[in-house]
Amino acid sequence: MKIKKFFLICAFLFACTPGSLEKQDRLYVEMLDVGQGLSFLIKGKNCNSLYDTGTPDSGIDTMLQNRGIKSLCSVVLSHKHNDHTGGMSVLIQMVKNGELRINRVLFESDAAEEPYLELLQNAGVKIQEISRNDTLADFLPWTTRILYTTGSITMRLSDSENSFLFTGDLEAEQEKNILELEPLLSITALQVGHHGSKTSSSWDFLAQIQPKMAFISVGKYNSYGHPHPETLTKLNIILQDTTQVFRTDRDGSVTVEWLYKIGMWK
Ligand SMILES: [Zn+2]
Repeated sequence: MKIKKFFLICAFLFACTPGSLEKQDRLYVEMLDVGQGLSFLIKGKNCNSLYDTGTPDSGIDTMLQNRGIKSLCSVVLSHKHNDHTGGMSVLIQMVKNGELRINRVLFESDAAEEPYLELLQNAGVKIQEISRNDTLADFLPWTTRILYTTGSITMRLSDSENSFLFTGDLEAEQEKNILELEPLLSITALQVGHHGSKTSSSWDFLAQIQPKMAFISVGKYNSYGHPHPETLTKLNIILQDTTQVFRTDRDGSVTVEWLYKIGMWK
């Protein structure tokens, strides 16, 4: 299936020979199965980054070790809730043990007083508050832009053909603000806000951004009832292909391979 899709895309590209594809820039975006929490690993040619870290018990250390990750250019913390930033304590310990190098940790203003930021600085990691429209050069030639920071850092990774939107626990009210700021926003792959809660993923937002793939990070049998059936119904209507909704509680960790300006697929 993967190969078929791949060659379908190639058929439209003059310069698409096996040799040129081997050299093609590629990214791997992996939704890590951290249970009831969130963490994405983005692996590029020169840089690996995390968007959120799960809870302290979600096994982020083992996951990084199993994948051979010894260095992170950046860790983006969407907001200060434990299911998103709790894993920082584990990462700090890894830095102290010499098992991991982190260049910088990016956070939003509400998290400025969090104790782990001081621990990071003491361990020699750069910390940096980020603002709307900041860009990260970590995945060039891909563009990484911060669309929004209030409540939950929302980050868009894109080439001219496709894009991946990381939203953390973005709520409907904040989605509305983003649409006002970014009226032409469209997205190929969406990290569904707040683990599929019904307080996120408003109709207006989904109808505007028109995602083709949806990623829900959610713990098995979680007590919050995430993802909410209403959210799943909306996603099934907007995506029109239920096989493109991925959930950590059913699918475990899920990786998207992304060839620059060619396509992305799971
Ligand atoms: Zn959360």
